[in-house]
Amino acid sequence: MSSRSCNYCTEDAVYTRELEGASFCSKCFRQSIEERVRRTVTRYEMLAHDDHIALALSGGKDSLTLLNILVKLERRFPRSKLTAVCVDEGIDGYRDEALLLATKECERLGVEQTTVSYRELFGITTDEIVKTDPDKTPCSYCGVLRRKAINKAALMVGATKIATAHNLDDEAQTVLLNMLHGDPMRLVRSAPVLRDVRGRFLTRIKPLCDIPEKEVVLYAYLSGLEFQSISCPHSSEALRNDIRAFLNQMEQKHPGTKFTLLRSAERLRELLAKSAPSVGLNDCEKCGDPTPHRYCEACNMLETITA
Ligand code: SF4
Ligand code: ZN
Ligand code: ZN
Repeated sequence: MSSRSCNYCTEDAVYTRELEGASFCSKCFRQSIEERVRRTVTRYEMLAHDDHIALALSGGKDSLTLLNILVKLERRFPRSKLTAVCVDEGIDGYRDEALLLATKECERLGVEQTTVSYRELFGITTDEIVKTDPDKTPCSYCGVLRRKAINKAALMVGATKIATAHNLDDEAQTVLLNMLHGDPMRLVRSAPVLRDVRGRFLTRIKPLCDIPEKEVVLYAYLSGLEFQSISCPHSSEALRNDIRAFLNQMEQKHPGTKFTLLRSAERLRELLAKSAPSVGLNDCEKCGDPTPHRYCEACNMLETITA
């Protein structure tokens, strides 16, 4: 434990936020995170008083932290509602444990929970997709199906918005990933709040987008949250891992790098949004979901997997 004192009370400090030059005890640190999330929510106008939020809950540190913070925030919005939506991708020895932890925490906090599975929605699991072709990159399939499953679960429970637990590190990595994939237009779709002006998709919000990953971990740890720490056995994000290592190195040498990258992306996003033509949407001929094409991305993928 540090010998420094908390800057906000008389307790011993457990953490120093170098960028601010401020030290925090456990209680003041957690309050500072909750306050920062509240400011992010206000700044981006993420919540309305009568919103029904579907929180994508995986059982990892990020989503369990967000669940705890949203439960506190929601008390300020008496007409709002929070439901946790979980997805069982069908990954043996991995997802089962995470789902158990998610259920336990929802029960402790008195939050309603709904779980959907790839098996019931798509007739196939991630483990089975991996077996169809070992050369496939599982995350690119699983990620698309996961987004669709969360969307379906959110609609099933009657939610008005979807909250995901992407933190500052995730967001900074995504900015660089989009650039390295030669797809800067994707920046528009990775905003802290994604509203569909056509009204066909639920609004998606990321209330943890200003919180560095290490502070999310510390919040979860200091709050005594039990979260899943093993990685998915199919994780195939080699480029993202390299970018993570690079950004962590940069952050150490040049504190504030990740924040700066996000602010630059925000400015770029504003410019791109003005120049991007609004794309019309059709109903997917297979599942009826909105898509700019004949079939949605998930139906296209399922077709190639099962072909
Ligand atoms: Fe799916 Fe990849 Fe996440 Fe595993 S790491 S759950 S395969 S998206
Ligand atoms: Zn304190
Ligand atoms: Zn479809």
